[in-house]
Amino acid sequence: MKNKILVSACLMGFKVRYNASEKAQMAEQLALWQQEQRLVIHCPELSAGLPVPRSPAEILSAGGGTGVMHGQGRIIEKTGKDVTAHYQLSAWLALRAAQESGCTAALLTDGSPTCGSQFIYDGCFRGQRQPGMGVAAALLTEQGIAVFSDTQFAELVDWIAEKENPELSL
Ligand code: SF4
Repeated sequence: MKNKILVSACLMGFKVRYNASEKAQMAEQLALWQQEQRLVIHCPELSAGLPVPRSPAEILSAGGGTGVMHGQGRIIEKTGKDVTAHYQLSAWLALRAAQESGCTAALLTDGSPTCGSQFIYDGCFRGQRQPGMGVAAALLTEQGIAVFSDTQFAELVDWIAEKENPELSL
């Protein structure tokens, strides 16, 4: 059975990031999967009603997105506005989109307080990275969906090959 993949809309060229930009550097590699109808293109923040452009937001929580989804920590915009509830909603909507479409994996843009999976920013708006997950990546992972960042495309290709052709990895 073909594995379906939830993919960050900005990776597909949609200008939905906080600064109205996209991150379509992988569009060519993803085109084949799109033709195979494997991709479910989704922007959790947009689904939750956040505007484009919007103020950048960062997570204030030792546990990153996982902590926020468990009621520990907050997400604030650079303006100081608390947007925790919007971001929690974005995570639940990403999970619903993935589950309703039967996605087994997600390919998400790293660094985002929502989609980040290898790193996020430290909450001080000084461009300082730290290991951690955004809220949607954390929730999808908790619910058994395999999350890959945009820097892990090769790992995702291997993961799919192993799932769909297990005899090849023997
Ligand atoms: Fe891209 Fe995810 Fe941010 Fe939407 S929430 S702009 S899909 S990184």
